[in-house]
Amino acid sequence: MTASSEFDIVEVIRTKRDLAELSDAQIRWALDAYVRGDVADEQVAALLMAVLLNGLSARELNTWTAAMIDSGERLDLSGLSRPTVDKHSTGGVGDKVSLILAPLVAACGAAVPQLSGRGLGHTGGTLDKLESIPGWRAVLTNDEIVAQLDEVGCVICAAGDGLAPADRKLYALRDVTGTVESIPLISASIMSKKIAEGTASLVLDVKVGIGAFMKDHARAAALARTMVGIGRDNGVATVAMLTDMDTPLGRAAGNGLEVREAVDVLRGGGPADVVDVTVALATEMLALAGIEGEDPAARLNDGSAYDVYRRMIAAQGGDPDAELDVAPTVVTIDADRAGVLVRLDAMGVGVAAWRLGAGRARKEDAVSAAAGVICLAKPGDQVVAGQPILELHTDNVDTLERSIAALHGAVEVGDGPFNGSPLILERIYG
Ligand code: URA
Repeated sequence: MTASSEFDIVEVIRTKRDLAELSDAQIRWALDAYVRGDVADEQVAALLMAVLLNGLSARELNTWTAAMIDSGERLDLSGLSRPTVDKHSTGGVGDKVSLILAPLVAACGAAVPQLSGRGLGHTGGTLDKLESIPGWRAVLTNDEIVAQLDEVGCVICAAGDGLAPADRKLYALRDVTGTVESIPLISASIMSKKIAEGTASLVLDVKVGIGAFMKDHARAAALARTMVGIGRDNGVATVAMLTDMDTPLGRAAGNGLEVREAVDVLRGGGPADVVDVTVALATEMLALAGIEGEDPAARLNDGSAYDVYRRMIAAQGGDPDAELDVAPTVVTIDADRAGVLVRLDAMGVGVAAWRLGAGRARKEDAVSAAAGVICLAKPGDQVVAGQPILELHTDNVDTLERSIAALHGAVEVGDGPFNGSPLILERIYG
């Protein structure tokens, strides 16, 4: 403790370790001191572990989240003429929904500020996907964000360094100290960024299953309820949907491959599961934004969502008509017998796409625009022996062996029937 410190960090750690509640002042001081560099990583790591093990009360969590928001700036979107509504996904394999949803909901009359991140590990990042479009720019100033929301109705861009900087530091520390998997810490991390972004309302897509952060329904529902509560307490109308992530969403996993599939959906086609999740999320977003009488499915079919998408891409320097990179090497994984595809595990496909070059292991790694996996068959499909089930796309043949290894046990053809989970598992309202 320095002479001028208001609190002693060791005392703060002991309080949480011993199952007592931290005061608001202790929480605010500890997070502020960490961001300023006045307490050490190992001390905050111990505090985070105590939180992971012992939790936070609702009051502690609200103060923790508020302290993270107050560590940086807040975007002011109150001057926009349209109601603001955003969506956040906890991340899944083949989850290209943001690329479709932002222009779709904008085409229905809302303003959608999608401040997004990059992919890390087996789940892709929205910015990485859009960066496969030549010229597209992820980094915008706050003034550019507001102007684009006014003119186009939606923006997907990088969350600036000024938003909740405490989260950046805390998340990096959690990543290396085994303290990511805490419901209050995840909730504060996600919601602090969304609240700082200035949206009036928010729909959360909490993925559940083999390929998701949350593998089981009960924990996913607890996370969703916690985030919905933080939103409500901070004046952001928030709804959560729990959606299945046992199997990849749609057929494509990989940056440029997913952009192509998103464009198919925006042009009225594409896989039914992607359309269904997107329309369900859009319906919740429009309800929160108070927009009535709009039919999101019709906006996909009549080309108006695609129109907004093209304007959104062009506004950020991208060419919506540009040819996307194509991988020079494509190999298939084939059915070993005839029957029904009973398993296509999202984690296996996500890790394979990542190893093929679509994802990064460290945040400074480059990603490939062309690499990834196409699922030629989906669970429930009848297949014949030798029929290609997966296509692996890569720029680098050296990645194939490890990518194929990731798929061992992930693909199973059986006698059927296939009993999958419903796509939309639950809705949680505030
Ligand atoms: N995503 C975030 O932004 N934060 C977490 O803690 C986990 C996932």
